[in-house]
Amino acid sequence: MKIREIQTFLMQAGPPLESGWAPAGKGGMSTAQSRQWLFVKVVTDEGFTGIGECSGWPRVVDTAVKDLTPLLLGQDPTHIQRLWNRMKVAMMGHGMTGTVGYGAMAGIEMALWDIKGKALGTPVWNLLGGKVRDRIRAYAHASRPQYALDLVQRGYTAIKTTGPSGIVDKVGALRDAVGQSVDLIVDLHGPPWLAAADAVAIGRELEQFKLLFLEDPVAPEDLRGFRRVRDAVQLPLAAGERHGGLWGVRNLLVEGLVDVIQPDTGRSGGIGQMMRMAHLAETFFAFFAPHSGSLGPVAEYAAVHVLAAIPNTLILERFGDDWEGRQRVVTPLLDIQDGHIIVPDRPGLGVDIVEGEITKHPPSGNVSIPGSPTQQAYEAGTFDEHSYFQARWRRPSLSGHIE
Ligand SMILES: [Mg+2]
Repeated sequence: MKIREIQTFLMQAGPPLESGWAPAGKGGMSTAQSRQWLFVKVVTDEGFTGIGECSGWPRVVDTAVKDLTPLLLGQDPTHIQRLWNRMKVAMMGHGMTGTVGYGAMAGIEMALWDIKGKALGTPVWNLLGGKVRDRIRAYAHASRPQYALDLVQRGYTAIKTTGPSGIVDKVGALRDAVGQSVDLIVDLHGPPWLAAADAVAIGRELEQFKLLFLEDPVAPEDLRGFRRVRDAVQLPLAAGERHGGLWGVRNLLVEGLVDVIQPDTGRSGGIGQMMRMAHLAETFFAFFAPHSGSLGPVAEYAAVHVLAAIPNTLILERFGDDWEGRQRVVTPLLDIQDGHIIVPDRPGLGVDIVEGEITKHPPSGNVSIPGSPTQQAYEAGTFDEHSYFQARWRRPSLSGHIE
């Protein structure tokens, strides 16, 4: 079998992005509502096709996929590691492989696993060693108590909310609403303006809520800050979504900074890298809880196959309510029952893209400045100037609401 063609499908997942940060969406989810998804389709000369998905910076990753394509044409798609090595070595001259390079490799590599599974008539999880579990616990996002209760009623047993603005009050309200039987997760997003001292102050106030984990308390580049939080806050810590490749998460584990790693399937370098990360985490008694914040439905499928096959699965992030178009872009949809994703049994990844639907949503853009309540981009002299760097967040506002 030989690779004959590689196609990409770049789309806007939601309304076109105009400027700034998209408004909070359904149920008060404080997340970007308009993102791009990039799907990859690898076509072979024997009629098998594989689907993958890349995240990171999709429009840029799209170019990287096209740049890598000549390396793969005419190659046997079943030699996944060989092809992954070809791509990795080919990027050496461009500097360290970042999330764009790992994103491109992830989308292509995911499609190769899909082809191999289809050719052998078996699900990808079977190629990874078989199933440890038949369903994957998932969590959803809520910032308002009412929506959190709604999720609990639908069977979710874990809920994430995000800060840092007003986070302690927000978590308190959620805990009051859902009680002690639901796990709460807090993501501080590691913005560059949140100093380690403030992350420690927030973390200490959050200890009372017995979180499942506290995510990205400081910027991913700030390992010393992470150490300060680690030593001062008695909560499980999680990170890893903004790194690519096994080497991206290595230091978090080797330095003993995290209890949970959260690689993003679409920029991890692929399913093989996800497996290696999970195994490395296992040696440090750390759990695995992939990031889904920027991902679409194909990468979510890939994460499910990995989580089915590893021992240290904790939970999977789920953005099922972010945009109703998600329901039309792939087929079939993942089966969700009682807050758990049922591991699919179909050959390969078990999902296909609906190309006619994707073309209805041409890409517009997906760069934005987070945390701007005024919907303005960075502007000195306004609230938004914190958006790159300010020595301190307004400290009195750490636990209150910023108006
Ligand atoms: Mg996050």
